[in-house]
Amino acid sequence: MVDCVFCKIAAKEIQSKIAYEDEEVVAFHDINPQAPIHVLIIPRKHIASLNEATEEDQSLLGKMMLVAQRLAKGLGVAEDGYRLVLNTNRGAGQSVFHIHLHLLGGRPFRWPPG
Ligand code: 5GP
Ligand code: ZN
Repeated sequence: MVDCVFCKIAAKEIQSKIAYEDEEVVAFHDINPQAPIHVLIIPRKHIASLNEATEEDQSLLGKMMLVAQRLAKGLGVAEDGYRLVLNTNRGAGQSVFHIHLHLLGGRPFRWPPG
């Protein structure tokens, strides 16, 4: 088994503030939030980054988006707006190599991102 912090969060071996979970995905609040709402949506399946995802993962990746949408609505940021971020590899700022979708909301966001 890979030594992965997000696999451990999904398995509840590392404690986190879980916002949603089911048999395929887990969503939890980021330990170092960059916005008033900052939730990470991950698959239970260990996929290191988007570069390693395959056709087989298509519905799982789509599900992560819809979970993010439902969380945005539930957390009250859907109307004002929210941002989904999926950093891929170090040049884009990926620091944990288990694919995750950032849901950020509760403040204005600039474009382009830094
Ligand atoms: P990345 O930089 O890879 O796109 O995002 C990784 C995110 O995971 C960061 O925002 C970081 O704060 C968060 N993170 C790293 N370790 C933990 C942890 O143990 N618990 C939680 N809740 N978030 C974490
Ligand atoms: Zn993992």
